[in-house]
Order: sequence, then structure tokens, then C-alpha cells
Amino acid sequence: MSAIVTRIAPSPTGYMHIGTARTALFNWLYARGRGGKFLLRVEDTDKERSSAEATEAIFRGLEWLGLDFDETPVFQASRADRHVEIATKLLASGNAYKCFSTQEEIVKFRDAAYARGSSTLFQSPWRDADDITHPNIPYVIRIKSPNEGHTIIKDQVQGDVKIKNDQLDDMVLLRSDGTPVYMLAVVVDDHDMGITHVIRGDDHLNNAARQMLIYKALDWPIPVYGHLPLILGPDGKKLSKRHGATSVEDYQLMGYPASGMRNYLARLGWSHGNDEFFSDDEAKIWFDLDAIGKSAARFDFKKLENLCKQHIAQTHDDALLHDIVQYKIIKDGEDEALKVSERLLPTLYCIKNRAKTYGEIIEKANFILINRPIEINEKALKNLSEDAILMLNRLTSLLRNVSWTREKLETLSESVAETFDTSFGKLAGPLRAALAGQTITPSVFDMMLILGRDETIARLADITAKGSH
Ligand code: GLU
Repeated sequence: MSAIVTRIAPSPTGYMHIGTARTALFNWLYARGRGGKFLLRVEDTDKERSSAEATEAIFRGLEWLGLDFDETPVFQASRADRHVEIATKLLASGNAYKCFSTQEEIVKFRDAAYARGSSTLFQSPWRDADDITHPNIPYVIRIKSPNEGHTIIKDQVQGDVKIKNDQLDDMVLLRSDGTPVYMLAVVVDDHDMGITHVIRGDDHLNNAARQMLIYKALDWPIPVYGHLPLILGPDGKKLSKRHGATSVEDYQLMGYPASGMRNYLARLGWSHGNDEFFSDDEAKIWFDLDAIGKSAARFDFKKLENLCKQHIAQTHDDALLHDIVQYKIIKDGEDEALKVSERLLPTLYCIKNRAKTYGEIIEKANFILINRPIEINEKALKNLSEDAILMLNRLTSLLRNVSWTREKLETLSESVAETFDTSFGKLAGPLRAALAGQTITPSVFDMMLILGRDETIARLADITAKGSH
């Protein structure tokens, strides 16, 4: 069997939809797991709807998701000459014809067919007309589609899909202004790019039958098809903004790790036994078209978060820091990211095990990002009662001489609490307030160990000095 070549062929007409990301992922997994290639084609033929920003969003989205493509990306619009060349070739071989029917005539044909109760698919009177009869007016080039028989799409996801050829009209290949239509461009580009497997949304299933006619007319090998069911929202309706985020960038800005997104998107419509949490390497080996479900998958935010949590927990600290910094750059800019990049690393060991997003990590690690005198938020302030400050005061003086180890710090804190006839629990809140200025923090001992003796004592002294006024 020849090498596998897949592709993602998005139209740059808006933000990058999460469904496009899933399609890209499936193509990437399929190719990467088989030593094949994964290519990118930007389908920018619709000049009015395409934009440079949308193209950028596709590149950024694929990059963030780690879906690297091979070779130089193809821009469909730049290949118009080649599309015209093929339309002309089909004309020359008799598989296509010039049609001079005007829009009015077509509407008239349809109205009459409708009134008769017969098929309204346009049947051009020029299909078998002799060249001699051709008028000197603008024309379109139409494919000569067979009137009898069936076209069977051997779809690897949907099974065999049989379409009667008399339901396929003689579609236009080249418009009267000489521009190629999208349907022709897709076939020519897929062929020229050597695409062996077309894996895409099932909104293109009907197109597949019509595209197959072009392949057949050119005697080109037909790619293997796999049409993926839609992604639905949790309520079973088509996934839309109503359900929350639908663009890849939204998820990036929400701080989900790309590895967790890949894992979750892979599970969205595809399964491997009961495996939920897996690595890219496992997915590349396991992924296959026959294990893609035929029915639409529902987006489950809980499951996404659960997987993201597991991926964050098992990422090495250095790699995690890198990803968090990238997130911070796009979220808040280089300056904010610099602080994160310089200070976050020593905190990760005690924070990464329970965070679903990078934002949660940064929030918990805030104690290391701030400088004295620290601001104390309202909630944390509630923990700083007079009694609490007395306890902190006592602790502060004892901290000067204790060995700076977790065990010693724990024992000392407990004994201070005991002196005040209370438990350590009552000291933890005030300590959080003093060291972090907020209630969401890692354990107080981790904070002390990370901040070190001098900074810990200084932060405590800031509070106790204030309290003793
Ligand atoms: N450009 C099409 C889209 O964005 C995809 C076409 C294809 O995959 O064949 O829906």
C-alpha cells in the first residue's frame, strides 16, 4: 500500500471551530500513526468570505494544538489556473460540456418541472448539442454526470452510502466568468497533493458523490473517505456559541493544556475500549477509522476538564512552565508573562496536581508573583482577627531559629496553636492571609518553604507590625 497522506482543508471564513480542530486531529493521528503525511490546504476560493485574520487563526490554532503539518501549506485560490486546466481537459475528453442556458431559462425549467411533479434538477439542453450550434455568448462548463446507475461512497465511518446517479445534476465546474467552482478545486487539489484519505465532517458526504464523478471522469484514483458525525452540545443540539466556547482560541484562552484538548477531542466521536486518559503516542497507535462512532458526539465540559487535570498533573515542571508562560503571553502580554516565567517553577510541584487550567495554577501561585507589602483581599482579611495576629506574632519570633524543614515548621506551628489553646487549623487561615493575601493557596508549609525564611518572616512582620499599632 502506498504511503498515507491526509489533510485538513479549512475555509478561512471566521474563527477556527472546535469541530475543525477535531477533524484536523483525526487526520493527524491517522497519518502520524502510520508513517504518513498530514497536509494543510487553506480553501480560500471564496474571496468575499475569506480573510487574512481567519487564515492566521487556523495557523495559530494548529500550532497551539501541536498538530504539525508536513510540506508547505497549499492556498487553494492560487491554484485557479490548474483548476481551469482540468475543466478544459474534461471538456476536451467529452466528460464535460459548454452550457449556454441563462439563469432565467434554468429557473423556468425548474418551475415547469415542479409544476409537473418531476425532478427539478436542471437538465441542460446543451448536454449533447453539436459545437456548430453553440452561440457566441457566455457559457459555463458542466460535468456530464451519468443518468443511470448508482454511485457508492465506500465510507469508512458511515458504511456504504448509495446514491442514485439521476439525483446528481450536471454540476457547474467553471463559471461563465472563467472561475472554477469549489467542488472541482477540492478534487484537483486532493489529487495533486496525493491525498489518499479524506477524513472530514459529514456535511460533506453529499459532496463526496459529486466529487467522485469528477475523479471517475478523469480516471483518477478515488481517495478513501471517512465522514465524521457532527459535534453536539451537552443538550443534544448542534454545538454553538449558546453552549459556551466553540472556537479553538477560546479554549486556549481558558487555559486548557493542548495535550488535554487533544485527548478530549480524540475521544469526541472515537473510542478505544474504555480508555479515557491517554497520550499522543497511544492515540497514534490506537486511532482507526472503524472505531469512529456513527452518531454525533456530545461535548462534555466536565470530561474535558477532568482530562486536562490529569494531563497537567503528569507534565514535567519545565514543560509545564513553558506552556503556562505561552498562555500568559496571549492572555496578558509579555510583561506579565515574564514574572510567571521567572518565578513560577518552584511552586509547580505542589500546585499542578489539582489544577484544570493554567489560570488556576497561576491563581494558586500568586503568592510567589507578588511583592511586599502584599495586598490582602477581603476574604483573607476576615482571617486576621486580633487573636490571630497574636498567634502570628508568636510564630514569627520562633521562626527565626527553627530549621527550615517541613517537619520542623509543622511541629512549630502546631505547638504555637496549642499554646493559644487551639488547633493548627485556626492558624492556617491567618498564615494564608499573611503570606499570600488570599485564601486560595498551596499548603502554608509549601509556601514557607518556597518563600524561604527571610521573606516568610518579612511578610508575617508586615502584618503583625500593622496589627500591633
Ligand atoms: N473547506 C471545507 C470546510 O471548511 C472542507 C472541505 C473538505 O474537507 O473537503 O468545511
